[in-house]
Amino acid sequence: MARILVIEDEADIRQVLDYNLKSAGHEVVEAARGADGLRLIREREPDLVLLDLMLPDMPGADVCRSIKDNPATKTLPVVMLTARGEEIDRVVGFEIGADDYITKPFSVRELVLRIRAVLRRRELPVSDGPSIEFGNLRLDRAAHRAWVEGEEVELTALEFKLLVTLYERRNRVQSRAALLDEVWGLDTKISTRTVDAHVKRLREKMGAARDYIETVRGVGYRFADVPMTEALGAG
Ligand code: CA
Repeated sequence: MARILVIEDEADIRQVLDYNLKSAGHEVVEAARGADGLRLIREREPDLVLLDLMLPDMPGADVCRSIKDNPATKTLPVVMLTARGEEIDRVVGFEIGADDYITKPFSVRELVLRIRAVLRRRELPVSDGPSIEFGNLRLDRAAHRAWVEGEEVELTALEFKLLVTLYERRNRVQSRAALLDEVWGLDTKISTRTVDAHVKRLREKMGAARDYIETVRGVGYRFADVPMTEALGAG
């Protein structure tokens, strides 16, 4: 059972969502406009946001960015509701940072299952466990914070999870499909270009530690097996 905020301007869709989410044991909070949704996030502290991409007052993408850019809410899961063909890659991609998406018209059963999967993903132990120290890179898993050479690097929840996942499987190549499954929890047909886009931006943010993530041409990505300082010392 979770508190789910539905931000959707179409009353009939809100009604269907309200009925089915309550039937699945969730508490539902509703907003018809993006600005009201953002206010309700502060006031009601939902566990998950179901967000329509097309809202009357502001694009759903902007609402999502506001959530993900705010340190207080950046780990709040956002599931986008989109019409088919509404640039799904972009929705789940790095530009918006949504955790998942559902296309309209949606199956209620699938919607409830996807929401459950996103909520469960949030509880995965990837956020726990000891801190990681690897050469000039330090990760605090509990706090979702990262440092390179002592300087904090601002990562999104998804980028952090991607980095930790690659680290935990270091020196083993991870295919794009495996990363989509593991990091995004998606078995859907979103393009593996989403993975490339995220890795590219993650590397840019990592600066001096960027080379820890190696591209394995035609296969995927791999985290280096030894920190750079040790590699240099050994050479
Ligand atoms: Ca709409």
